[in-house]
Amino acid sequence: MSEREQAVLSWVNKQLFIGGKWVDSSTGATYGVEDPATNLILAQIADAGPEDAVAALDAASAAFEAWAETPPRARAEVIRRAFEIIMERQEDLALLMTMEMGKPISESRSEVAYAAEFFRWFAEEAVRIDGRYYVAPDGNSRVLTMKQPVGPTYMITPWNFPLAMGTRKIGPALAAGCTVVLKPAEQTPLCSLALAQILTEAGLPGGVVNVVNTTSPGPITDALVADGRLRKLSFTGSTEVGKMLVAKSADNLLRLSMELGGNAPFIVFDDADLDLAVEGAMVAKMRNMGEACTSANRFLVSAKVADAFADRLAARMGAMRIGRGTEEGIQVGPLIDADAVAKVQGLVKDALTRGAKLVTGGDKLDGAGHFFAPTVLTNVNRDARISAEEIFGPVASIVTFDSEDEAIHLANSTEYGLVAYVFSQSLSRSLRVIEKLETGMVGLNQGLVSNAAAPFGGVKHSGFGREGGFEGIEEYLALKYVAINHRA
Ligand code: NAP
Repeated sequence: MSEREQAVLSWVNKQLFIGGKWVDSSTGATYGVEDPATNLILAQIADAGPEDAVAALDAASAAFEAWAETPPRARAEVIRRAFEIIMERQEDLALLMTMEMGKPISESRSEVAYAAEFFRWFAEEAVRIDGRYYVAPDGNSRVLTMKQPVGPTYMITPWNFPLAMGTRKIGPALAAGCTVVLKPAEQTPLCSLALAQILTEAGLPGGVVNVVNTTSPGPITDALVADGRLRKLSFTGSTEVGKMLVAKSADNLLRLSMELGGNAPFIVFDDADLDLAVEGAMVAKMRNMGEACTSANRFLVSAKVADAFADRLAARMGAMRIGRGTEEGIQVGPLIDADAVAKVQGLVKDALTRGAKLVTGGDKLDGAGHFFAPTVLTNVNRDARISAEEIFGPVASIVTFDSEDEAIHLANSTEYGLVAYVFSQSLSRSLRVIEKLETGMVGLNQGLVSNAAAPFGGVKHSGFGREGGFEGIEEYLALKYVAINHRA
């Protein structure tokens, strides 16, 4: 490990952050955070249990009233200052992210900027929480609506975007006046711990945001969702865990936001600009090594251009530089762990057994780290597992279609509904297709939809709720209606 890597690691506190203080786990337990590129332990950090989670909720509950009553401008300024500090520390945070998660350093820099943007956006939204006043139809009474913070919120985030998945939830929650217990993913807690330090530096009062890293997400979650003081659960992760959390939160009827899995179709019509489509495919497939909920999972390509598209995509993917993401110029880092590699390998083998043709890649790399070669498969059978399951790896699976209706049918033939990508130079065709797609988001002639200023979220088994945009803050606001007898 280089001196700079050690310096960045030593800057991060390794404890739990509860009530504005850094504390050990009540049992004294710790666990190791691994670098997926080297399999070496980067840091030993506190491992919270249910008692620590309840202590964090105690702190979030105690801090709630004062934070909710803090003037919106004052809340906004803390969030804005945190945005600035994140950007001042962009290089250190990017290195930390690459070390714990594996993505190339250039992508980590982009994620840090994207993560910070949620704070800038929601600092601006904090001062625009509105209500309405209008005359009821009978003319006698008046209707007043006001929006108030939901209350203490429990947030669970995944490992694939270690900073942005946190700020995307914390930004709007703080802007709305809510307090937070954050449980980051076990494999990538360091960015969240750094974020807690930054929020403190930015002037956030103790107890408003609490961070509990753990290897026991189930027991911690059970303790929190059973506690009547908790008002909301915001989850980003797999559909499987999301469904379980929806069921668990029924007893206390928690407000829920569920950002779940995806199986994005990437549709290329014969009238598409192929250069643009390949460029878009590189982003939609290879960003984050394919470990993104928005990752293109099924390439649906018009039979007329499928060979040309596959050849060009394979040439680009096959030429990518693979390695530890801390080195400048690396384009493909490791997958998160050995299970992820085994899953991707299983999906590729299944597709090959069912007649797919391998154009490039196809296997994991030998040696340390969890590396998988960028892979392109054509002639993929529509019934192959890879067409139905989230790949979460650098594998492009290409299926052909002959008509617009067939493309739409194939795109919608999944339980998921997060995002779709459409490449066509015909605006009328694009809009016709987009209207029929069962997804919460669409990228039209571009392979990236993530944007702090836009409402991110899915339909069907990809969940509900929106993060970012004007809609994001509404997830943390409760609506109160007042019936006014204005003749009294
Ligand atoms: P995951 O296994 O569902 O884990 C996500 C989070 O849930 C982690 O913090 C995890 O903790 C926690 N968790 C696991 N079991 C739990 C339980 N029994 N009770 C409470 N929490 C529990 O998903 P993942 O593999 O880390 O992340 C990848 C998934 O996230 C993919 O499906 C991807 O599509 C989805 N995702 C969706 C979006 C979106 O915005 N729609 C964005 C990014 C990712 P541990 O780390 O301790 O397991």
